[in-house]
Amino acid sequence: MNYTIDDNHLLQGENVVHLLTSKNNLEFPPNSPDSLIIHYTAGSGAESSAKYLQDKNVKASAHIVIGREGEIFQIVPFNKIAWHAGKSYYGGRPGFNNFSIGIELDNAGILTKTGNEYQSWFGRKYPQSEVMEAIHRNETAPRFWHTYTEKQLKLNMEIASVIIAAYPKIFEILGHEEISPGRKQDPGPAFPLDKFRRTVLGDDRDDLAAGVHELPESGLIVPSKLNIRSGAGIAFDKVAKPLTSGHEVQILEEVNGWYRVKTEIEGWVSKGHVNTHT
Ligand SMILES: [Zn+2]
Repeated sequence: MNYTIDDNHLLQGENVVHLLTSKNNLEFPPNSPDSLIIHYTAGSGAESSAKYLQDKNVKASAHIVIGREGEIFQIVPFNKIAWHAGKSYYGGRPGFNNFSIGIELDNAGILTKTGNEYQSWFGRKYPQSEVMEAIHRNETAPRFWHTYTEKQLKLNMEIASVIIAAYPKIFEILGHEEISPGRKQDPGPAFPLDKFRRTVLGDDRDDLAAGVHELPESGLIVPSKLNIRSGAGIAFDKVAKPLTSGHEVQILEEVNGWYRVKTEIEGWVSKGHVNTHT
């Protein structure tokens, strides 16, 4: 293994630069971190994004930023709470900052096509070879996305493996788009999220991840009101009045973080709002 995590919870290895921030000093509570959250920076470069997240006046941070050429910046030690998730909710739990490690990947995010050019929100243009047209798991129409580099994806896989080996409570890997659906689109469809978490978590974590790999038979609705829709995404029509807290549903199928459920009616609900550990 080329990378290690030292006694100070810092990553050590090739091209790792520590840009530690003074703003995140709270340690994780016991039994955490237990989750890994993948993000894109929506920025123009790994170093500038890392320096922004390091800034004590910025109300955001992450544990590490991985660049497109294999550069790595660590901003927060892995035993401390960083501010990468914001308002978040999944699997019956809110507030993912308190129990998750955040990895940011340098990527411009959503691109807009004008003529033959693809442009980021900050005005940089990208060649077609760095663009993917795809439908986001929370949307129904395709958009243009900045692709990740092979080097970056491979390194992310390696670093994630080192992190979960060092922090054995970690049982799930999620995209920011899954814990903050609608509000966040990262890491987006250019990132192979489903394959990545299968590969990194592996079968030996199945006992920890009860309910993550296998489809549960039933669950209870968690929020006071939860929309039930005709398809797996917030863009689909509502098929009935919202389901209410405590309502029991039969779970039939899972697609892209949504459950097709059956109760008096049948439809799709965002799976993070269903408590299946009953
Ligand atoms: Zn994010």
